[in-house]
Amino acid sequence: MNNSINRRTWIKSSLMAMGTMAVAPAFALPKNKALAAYQPDSILNEHIPMFNYNEARIVAKLNANENPYGPSPKVIKAISDSIALGNRYGHGEAKVLIDMIAEKEGVTPDHIMLSPGSSDILEKVAFVQFMNGGNVVSADPSYMSLMNTAQKLGATWKPSLLTGDYQHDLEAMAKSVDSETNLVYICNPNNPTGSITDATKLKAFCSTVSEKTPVFVDEAYLEFLDKPEESSMVGLVAEGKDVIIARTFSKVHGMAGLRIGYMVALPERIESITSKVRSTMGLCVTSLNGAIASMKDPSFITSCRNMNTDCREYTKGEIASLGYDIIPSHTSFMIFPIRMEGQAFMKGMYDSGVGIRVFNIDDKPWCRVSMGTKEEMEIFVDAFKKVTA
Ligand code: PLP
Repeated sequence: MNNSINRRTWIKSSLMAMGTMAVAPAFALPKNKALAAYQPDSILNEHIPMFNYNEARIVAKLNANENPYGPSPKVIKAISDSIALGNRYGHGEAKVLIDMIAEKEGVTPDHIMLSPGSSDILEKVAFVQFMNGGNVVSADPSYMSLMNTAQKLGATWKPSLLTGDYQHDLEAMAKSVDSETNLVYICNPNNPTGSITDATKLKAFCSTVSEKTPVFVDEAYLEFLDKPEESSMVGLVAEGKDVIIARTFSKVHGMAGLRIGYMVALPERIESITSKVRSTMGLCVTSLNGAIASMKDPSFITSCRNMNTDCREYTKGEIASLGYDIIPSHTSFMIFPIRMEGQAFMKGMYDSGVGIRVFNIDDKPWCRVSMGTKEEMEIFVDAFKKVTA
């Protein structure tokens, strides 16, 4: 049964799926005037600030899904200790990190490619898969990086709306795959919804669909789950499936500004990239040693995950008590529909020193807020109450 929903009923059906009533916003600005990178095919469009604001006045930076606690003290030490190695290329350190990742993910090192953040993987895979056109299948709304690059290269994007409980509509996506499909992109947990797709169903989907076309699974937020290994698709790569996994040190490891990510895929997929462009050449010896230290510090990851969950519960409770319906989040951010015009809301929040993101979904404004420290979340809640009063 195809249980996807049409654009007009997206919010209504999805909120009803949470057992609540839909809340209509007061205004909707014309898309092409108010929104950045307007995508006519997408249900998701972002508001850019159309006002002047002073970065220095931001006291709670909750707009980029950064980890407020990282990097770990051990990473900071490893990086400081490596600065003197800056005259050397990091090939040796890259090999150490690749070996550690391969062991953790249960594959041989030729299944691993490092990169400066996972953005680089999204773009390199898009270049290789779409340099001769074709189409890419993904959910809508989702994290658009790979689809944006693919479309700029001439590919067609085939979006599939999420189901009423915000999972990927795997049935609809499988039907969308045709002889021109060069890749399927899945973001799990998904950004910007924070929702998760059932791992058993996703595994079955990846196994079948990867017989026809590679399936890219972006697991940037996986490590915020209590049992990440149960929801990862990485085991399929070890089974020889044409599945590409992207991971990053930017989120739970708290190293967004240090730029390290990695891909786990079949050696021939990695070869399809490294035969054209280089991989480890883009990495710094300092960040590599930082990532190695972070992998040796699992207690830091556990404490970040726990603090993230605490802040998420606190924020969810506060915002829900004001009568807002929040999509259940499995990540370091959450999103919910607001009841005022998006630009005015964003300006009010920035004027109060709080950076957030505002998206229009199906032409209605939604606030996406990243989890900061408890203190930052209290600032967010106070500002939210003031701005929306
Ligand atoms: N994938 C998802 C789903 C993201 O949300 C982000 C960043 O927010 C990225 C990938 C890219 O992050 P990075 O390049 O820092 O690894």
